[in-house]
Amino acid sequence: MTNQTRTRRLGAAAVALMAAGAAGINAAQASPQDGTARYGHGAAGSGDPYFPYAGNGGYDVLHYDLDLRYAPPSDPAVLAGKLAGEATITLRATQDLNSLNFDLRGLNVTAVDVDGKDVNRGSGPSEWTQVQDDANRIWELTVGLRTKLKAGQEATITVDYGGATGRPEDTTGALYGWVTTADGAMVVNEPDGAPTWFPVNDDPEDKATYSFHITVPEGKTAVANGLSEGEPKTNAGWTTWTWEAADPMASYLATASVGDYTLTYAKGPHGLPIINAVDDGVAGADLAKTTAALALQPRMITFLSDLFGRYPFEAFGAIVDDDSVDYALETQTRPVYSGAADEATVVHELGHQWFGNDVSPADLKDIWLNEGWATYIEWLWAEHTGQATVAQQFTDTVAELDSKNLWGMNIADPGRDNLFAAEVYNRGAAALHALRAKVGTRRSLPEPGIGWNATATPRQQPQTLNR
Ligand SMILES: [Zn+2]
Repeated sequence: MTNQTRTRRLGAAAVALMAAGAAGINAAQASPQDGTARYGHGAAGSGDPYFPYAGNGGYDVLHYDLDLRYAPPSDPAVLAGKLAGEATITLRATQDLNSLNFDLRGLNVTAVDVDGKDVNRGSGPSEWTQVQDDANRIWELTVGLRTKLKAGQEATITVDYGGATGRPEDTTGALYGWVTTADGAMVVNEPDGAPTWFPVNDDPEDKATYSFHITVPEGKTAVANGLSEGEPKTNAGWTTWTWEAADPMASYLATASVGDYTLTYAKGPHGLPIINAVDDGVAGADLAKTTAALALQPRMITFLSDLFGRYPFEAFGAIVDDDSVDYALETQTRPVYSGAADEATVVHELGHQWFGNDVSPADLKDIWLNEGWATYIEWLWAEHTGQATVAQQFTDTVAELDSKNLWGMNIADPGRDNLFAAEVYNRGAAALHALRAKVGTRRSLPEPGIGWNATATPRQQPQTLNR
């Protein structure tokens, strides 16, 4: 937990959060769009246009230390597990605060302390309280501060919590968050699923570093982001796996998946550690496809590094589960795949490490451009490996969008429930190709400079679109 590493890429996010924090509100009293500053409460939401209560205002998380103990379902026919957690959150106030909020969904808080001093449960100004309002998607833990936190001051807040785990769904009905499986859990948070397993400032702009200590029944493997730290330690039938993610990361990109995984280790360009976790239940044609696709990772990293600059993180790899959430996700440094990993999906999720993870959207509304880049990267890889030219894939995509009459959607503002629609991905890719190749189409492709509100250091901005 070194501050130098943690704050390396937080500059822009911290500045933006300071601005957001000026609009402090109280969860119990006002909507997150309410801009009036009063009482010095951190805002209950970051004001995201699609997910207004996701994230919070008034502070910037530097580091999450997550100590999790998880019992997978005892009866595989009943997909319910048990999770107990202690989250130690180091944060810095960006405004004077006498209380602040975290997002936590479906789990019960049992104890909170601030800088080692216990906080009582209750509705008083220096007590903690929890709101679980499924109908309105408001899941908030409010922590009162006995000692007011001045802007710029750091505090460490520890939250003990736990409960039964199930199979949470996003606004479209897709599985996400801590998804309980027969042999463990598949953990994929995009867009707002992180609060289903830890108390969090669930705002993609508030990147932080993470430590994971995941205790599971002996014989199970727990895999998170970053690098494994030492050998797993077993005591009385439980094994603790420790992972450190030193690259600042948005909360929707965190994972702590549990299963019957076998870990394999490889090296990428410049000695980059590649750690793959493949479920023992992946077999036959799925295993053959997965093995072939994962073997291409070093070559893919070299190809994309030549195009976009050096691979941005300390590690890469994969988590391939025999269970399925029906999609793959670009969890930072270690994408998660459902059932099998295929070549196009692996290069797509790798592409997201540059576009989406390192350079990242400030609002979840802007996920369309993450996906445009990742889809375009699939086209570039297919051309590089002689499978199909980019020009042909562009032509095919335009024809498909034509035939389905899918040009009406505003891809730069597709609506909360269309964020992950294939036409959004494909139109993004087509737009990028059109801009790069200057091949105009008569359709309404996004104009150069259309709002992608990204946080990144200037050298990492996608210059093509910001011109
Ligand atoms: Zn994607």
